[in-house]
Amino acid sequence: MQVDVAIIGAGAAGMMCAAYAKGRVLIVDHARAPGEKIRISGGGRCNFTNLHSGPHAFLSQNPHFAKSALARYTQWDFIDLVDRHGIAWHEKTLGQLFCDGSAKEIIAMLRRLMQENGVNVNLQTTARDFAKTPEGFDFTLDQGGHTQKVQTKTLVLATGGKSIPKMGATGLAYDIAAQFGLTVTETRPALVPFTFPEGRFAPLAGVAAPACVTAGAQSFDEAVLFTHRGLSGPAVLQASSYWREGDPITLNLCPEGGLLPALQKKRGIAGGRKLTNELAQFLPARLVEHLSGVMALSGNLADQSDAALTSMVQSLQNWTLTPAGTEGYRTAEVTLGGIDTGALSAKTMEVASVPGLFFIGEAVDVTGWLGGYNFQWAWSSGMAAARALA
Ligand SMILES: Cc1cc2nc3c(=O)[nH]c(=O)nc-3n(C[C@H](O)[C@H](O)[C@H](O)COP(=O)(O)OP(=O)(O)OC[C@H]3O[C@@H](n4cnc5c(N)ncnc54)[C@H](O)[C@@H]3O)c2cc1C
Repeated sequence: MQVDVAIIGAGAAGMMCAAYAKGRVLIVDHARAPGEKIRISGGGRCNFTNLHSGPHAFLSQNPHFAKSALARYTQWDFIDLVDRHGIAWHEKTLGQLFCDGSAKEIIAMLRRLMQENGVNVNLQTTARDFAKTPEGFDFTLDQGGHTQKVQTKTLVLATGGKSIPKMGATGLAYDIAAQFGLTVTETRPALVPFTFPEGRFAPLAGVAAPACVTAGAQSFDEAVLFTHRGLSGPAVLQASSYWREGDPITLNLCPEGGLLPALQKKRGIAGGRKLTNELAQFLPARLVEHLSGVMALSGNLADQSDAALTSMVQSLQNWTLTPAGTEGYRTAEVTLGGIDTGALSAKTMEVASVPGLFFIGEAVDVTGWLGGYNFQWAWSSGMAAARALA
């Protein structure tokens, strides 16, 4: 088989690229269906972009790398595409856009675009033995017991990261990068829950509270969720991208402020109330019960001096915990790190030292925050390559 463009990986980035690349386009995926992560994303409603998407929301060893692709294909471009396909959506919170109906509508849209572009889609197909030739690249396809040689002028790796191996994640892009002498930065599970030893928070499993979670120099003000094995929830997942083994994280359980004056006022009018009962007006009762042990909270409001109340509020605003680890790639939403951007053109995603070879999507060392940013990177980087391939 001879093609102009061969794309390995029919996920978000690969399908976007296939939909807009020109010439004879082949896309290959070993999964039974394309876009499986799109299907399960956002609780089945796909948080497909974020109104506030911009370079600030991405981690990379080169924080400037994503700027060009994000600026040349923006969240507004993708929203326009979704609108033109009649997919209804809504903003949930913090600029996060979700389908009103189902994530399957996004997959159907991308499949329709690929069909209109005459893309040859090969599912349940594996690709191996990639080699550079004077004309481009050769590789072998295995599909249902048949083997086929492919010659392509250009090759696009869109096989994603390592997260959720059960869903077909492999390290193929990293292997191909190594084959062509490219560097892969350290990869780590990100947007992932923290674990703590011996079910430390098991009694609190299911309790959620608003909090500001800090890891490294970055803080996220959203919800935290206590689980049987540790901590999850949006603020925790966000912080996990900035966490390193052995580091502490800090939870501010009263991010809004106002607790101290409220307690002081209440002390003046109802000093006989138990401190923990009063705190339960501000925090979930089970969490207060747990904290009363950890922070030795006892007595009535009238028993608390200003200094004691101040010190307690400071403790609630600065609850320092050291996770044992994370849940790892088994549940991580994304992989931090990837193909070193130093090897790639920021405008096209092409490898400077290997003309015709492209890396897009999560395989690249560009990782977004929680909230639709990772799909935006898939759309923007997929489109950057597609435009170069047109
Ligand atoms: C549970 C979950 C929920 C998420 N929710 C959101 C969300 O709401 N919003 C958001 O922005 N991001 C979300 N993400 C992250 C988002 O799904 C990814 O960042 C995005 O899918 C990356 O796109 P990609 O095309 O680079 O890779 P993927 O979408 O992972 O696609 C890679 C494709 O390559 C195929 N592949 C891999 N190896 C091979 C191989 N060797 N041969 C052939 N094919 C191969 C895979 O089968 C897959 O189809 C979520 C992730 C998870 C796990």
